[in-house]
Amino acid sequence: MSDLNMKERFLKALKGEEVDKVPVLSVTQTAIVELMDKTGAAWPAAHSDAKLMAELAYASYEVCGLEGVRAPYCLTVLAQAMGCEVNMGTKNRQPSVTGHPYQDGIANLKMPDNLLSQGRIPAVLEAMKILKEKTDGKVPVIAGMEGPITLASDLCGVKKFMKWSIKDKASYNAILDFATEACITYANALADAGADVISVPDPVCSPDLMSPDAFKADLKPRLQKFAAAVKVPMILHICGDVTAIIPDMADCGFVSISIEEKVKDLAGAKAKVAGKVTICGNVSSPFSLLQGTPEKVKEDAKKALEAGVDVLAPGCGIAPDTKISNLQAMVEARNEFYK
Ligand SMILES: [Zn+2]
Repeated sequence: MSDLNMKERFLKALKGEEVDKVPVLSVTQTAIVELMDKTGAAWPAAHSDAKLMAELAYASYEVCGLEGVRAPYCLTVLAQAMGCEVNMGTKNRQPSVTGHPYQDGIANLKMPDNLLSQGRIPAVLEAMKILKEKTDGKVPVIAGMEGPITLASDLCGVKKFMKWSIKDKASYNAILDFATEACITYANALADAGADVISVPDPVCSPDLMSPDAFKADLKPRLQKFAAAVKVPMILHICGDVTAIIPDMADCGFVSISIEEKVKDLAGAKAKVAGKVTICGNVSSPFSLLQGTPEKVKEDAKKALEAGVDVLAPGCGIAPDTKISNLQAMVEARNEFYK
């Protein structure tokens, strides 16, 4: 058992199989400014250049000791390829969607020709190939991408999306199905390019934005369709206190779910999903990793391990101004836990 490499250990832990120790890595945004300075692979260039993208991802393994490499660093690649306008951000600010191709309606809904050659998709696929080669089957390669619900809301604008969810079910259903289709195509391309696992943050599913009833009735079926059609294991990440939707998240067909520290009762969450999915998380990204001391990070990490987390990871995307030493502390906490 102890001769498992990092990739084998992570894949087993995700499926809930027995491992010698819980893997420690990030399934959410992983790049930080200190690593950009060390490697010279900095945002915003590293969002579009395959070599820089791969180099920055590899540094979180090489320098911080995280047991996986993850790219890219935003939730806008597919949205942009489908016609959204994107502000590429700065060295410590992520890209964001600023313009929506279907804000006036779905009359002209059309999948771009050659979706996989649009925008930054070729660069991300190339980065997956580089990472697969560089890690040589020893370290898991994790691709990140926006989920179908967040993509749908980016395509029409989140206000329009919420409005349609109540007043125009035809448009709402059409944009959701359209986005789901695109996510399936893109995710399978990421897998073909070398991603061992795909991590799917879908923040618009959060109970902060959509009701648990809407999640169950409208969003879950799309997530199920998505998960069933993709050839590698996927992780579903939803932000905020998702306690109310955890049982439904566990039914979406993803192998694992990633949750924040806002879910107060991690052990209770584990019990609810037992036998269905595993749990990644939930060291606080803003309060411990960004603002806390290494001691605080270790305290949170050990709490998560004691509660039975399957993969020790940040609860949400790592803030770019987070210190290397705090990510290293998360790894040390895992090591100390098994001494
Ligand atoms: Zn999140």
